[in-house]
Amino acid sequence: MTAQSIGKVKYPHVFSPLQIGPHRLKNRILMGSMHTGLEDVPNAAERLSAYFAERARGGVGMIITGGITPHPSGGRGAKLSEPAEVPMHRQVTDAVHAADPDVKIVMQILHSGPIAHAEQPVGPSAVKSRIGPAVPKELDEDGIEEQIAAFANCAALARAAGYDGVEIIGSAGYLISTFLVEKTNLRTDRWGGSWENRMRFPLEIVRRVRAAVGPDFILIFRISAMDMLQGGLAWEEVVSLAKGLEAEGVNVISTHFCWHESLVPTIATMVPRAAFTQVTGRLRKELSIPLITSNRINMPHVAEEVLARGDADLVSMARPMLADPDLVNKALEGREDEINTCIACNQACLDHTFTGKLTSCLVNARACRETEVIVAPARTAKRIAVVGAGPAGLAFATIAAERGHAVTLFDAADEIGGQFNLAKRIPGKEEFYETLRYFGRMIDLHGIDLRLGKRVGAADLDGFDEVVLATGIEPRTPDVPGIDHPKVVRYIDVITGKARVGQKVAIMGAGGIGFDVAELITHEGTSGALDIDVFAREWGIDFRNHPRGGVTGIEPQVASNGREVTLLQRKASAVGKGLGRTTGWTHRLTLQRRGVQMVAGVDYRRVDDAGLHLTIEGEERVLDVDTVIVCAGQEPARELFNELAAAGREAHLIGGAYEAGELDAKRAIKQATELAVAI
Ligand code: FAD
Ligand code: NAP
Ligand code: SF4
Repeated sequence: MTAQSIGKVKYPHVFSPLQIGPHRLKNRILMGSMHTGLEDVPNAAERLSAYFAERARGGVGMIITGGITPHPSGGRGAKLSEPAEVPMHRQVTDAVHAADPDVKIVMQILHSGPIAHAEQPVGPSAVKSRIGPAVPKELDEDGIEEQIAAFANCAALARAAGYDGVEIIGSAGYLISTFLVEKTNLRTDRWGGSWENRMRFPLEIVRRVRAAVGPDFILIFRISAMDMLQGGLAWEEVVSLAKGLEAEGVNVISTHFCWHESLVPTIATMVPRAAFTQVTGRLRKELSIPLITSNRINMPHVAEEVLARGDADLVSMARPMLADPDLVNKALEGREDEINTCIACNQACLDHTFTGKLTSCLVNARACRETEVIVAPARTAKRIAVVGAGPAGLAFATIAAERGHAVTLFDAADEIGGQFNLAKRIPGKEEFYETLRYFGRMIDLHGIDLRLGKRVGAADLDGFDEVVLATGIEPRTPDVPGIDHPKVVRYIDVITGKARVGQKVAIMGAGGIGFDVAELITHEGTSGALDIDVFAREWGIDFRNHPRGGVTGIEPQVASNGREVTLLQRKASAVGKGLGRTTGWTHRLTLQRRGVQMVAGVDYRRVDDAGLHLTIEGEERVLDVDTVIVCAGQEPARELFNELAAAGREAHLIGGAYEAGELDAKRAIKQATELAVAI
């Protein structure tokens, strides 16, 4: 883009180029580093190449790869410490540069230190992390030298592999950051004690890396600008580190806002958009090199606002690039209503990473499966009826129509979305509106014949070549005496506001919906996801005064409406154990802070005027409640399927209609996508 044309684009700050040494970035959006697991599959080079090349074609200015360890002690994942490991990387960098020679690709060097899943994790001191697998071995002087040399060697090999630069991660509780923080660095030699000694390790690494790669190679360093740790880094230390790194030849500082073990959510959907960029903005005033900001920036107008405010020079979007590889081009071409927005659920990305599964994306089941799930024109265009416009029906209909099929999409409701219309009403789940906006636009774009307000029977499905039933679920009614008592209400009626909820409440069932309902009925005031001050109060963060870590000495204050709520389940396991790996703790903690009682191992006896009678560990109890809300899971809605089957007609079942047990939107959309590319 020329300087003259910049004035005409809708996002002038996003689409203004940036010079980094001899490298010119064509815009200010980069794809942030994410470990996908593709690094570790047998055909890693082919799959990574397809994955990154698709994002390069989608318009990003720069791509940062998932973390690559420089040393065997740095983690079990992909490593680059020997020349024999270079060719795999060369294939990836060639693919990206072939897709668009203007896109830069930078390799992240990640040594996980005390949280590495390695034979022998290492650290500055033998201090076990809350989330680490073992007590790390304290590095001696030779060990420290070996690690510094490993970073320099890795960077030189990255250059040989065709990368345009490296990013060194010095945050999040990984090796480098544990040298910086007092509670993980107990040393008394020249690598510990005073601040000068604690920051010696990162500065020495940068000095040696710069010497190994020369002056014209992009060198990014990622720091925890606010580490969210009680007793973490003080603001003066953050500034001093950043200045030291600049002096040693770092081209760009990337700001990060976490240690993995901190008890503040920093990227979950309950975090307001761009919540942390003000911290980058403050640091930017202290430095003369460009800064990258990140976290919950998922739409181009948010990136534009951040850049226009002067909070940063570059915006990192990581998960949004899983959700929509073409996000940047869509912004450039004024097609932002076509963006498939990351809803920050973590369900198919981080939750997979932390459970050893390949990453993908809830809203884009093609993510990281680019070589397997291919949306190609249909060989024969068919007339397809899709019944149900929930996530499964929507995903199927839009992909099938994109392939050239003539799709008619029915729903009994007067709006698309199915259960997402319930999910979006839960405080902290406002991003679900974006998914509905996206699918609404896709319906128009692909010419789908949408028929709302139409409960379909078998007779309505004559004349179609294929019938796809995405009719969803029916809430389960437990077989408990008194379940038809006036105190008992269904979760759907609570969420839609049809049922009145009393002051003392029992929730029968503590799955995802039980937790969401508890959130809804105990919530007071504005959603923290929409108001940064509410969010800061709820999680005990002081953005302005930045005590150590941004959180030291601050008590979270969660507003509650005073309702007395008991969340119940029959299983003996901990309540909420089945929630998302990386987000479940935030829901448990919020409800605990609002005084919600969580009780496992119950046996429901009956409901009557006295309340809910139950047995807990063999002891009979009565919960004197005004309302019992049933959140006891679901059964598939198969009425139409059975009607068709009785008439000897075939139909495809997807989503909840196929299997309601352990159903979520991730599975519904994945199954729909797989059928839509094959039909
Ligand atoms: P549904 O969404 O149930 O859609 C089925 C559609 O079919 C409905 O619109 C219905 O009107 C229509 N229909 C049925 N029969 C007929 C007929 N005969 N004629 C015409 N139309 C018909 N999942 C997650 O992954 N993450 C979450 O965070 C999450 N949060 C949730 C929060 C809440 C409060 C709820 C209720 C659910 C949540 N879910 C979440 C679950 C997720 O919404 C479901 O898994 C998903 O909606 C299932 O999709 P589906 O398309 O199979 O069915
Ligand atoms: P769920 O997660 O399967 O939970 C159902 C709950 O009901 C469980 O606590 C279950 O535990 C209980 N139950 C099951 N049968 C029962 C019976 N006959 N009588 C009494 N209790 C019974 O289902 P859900 O909460 O309805 O959620 C539906 C889906 O939506 C889930 O699969 C979930 O993944 C998805 N969702 C996800 C999120 C998210 O944030 N990721 C949020 C909401 C929903 P016991 O049997 O131990 O009592
Ligand atoms: Fe975003 Fe959820 Fe997709 Fe992860 S799985 S990229 S958080 S939408």
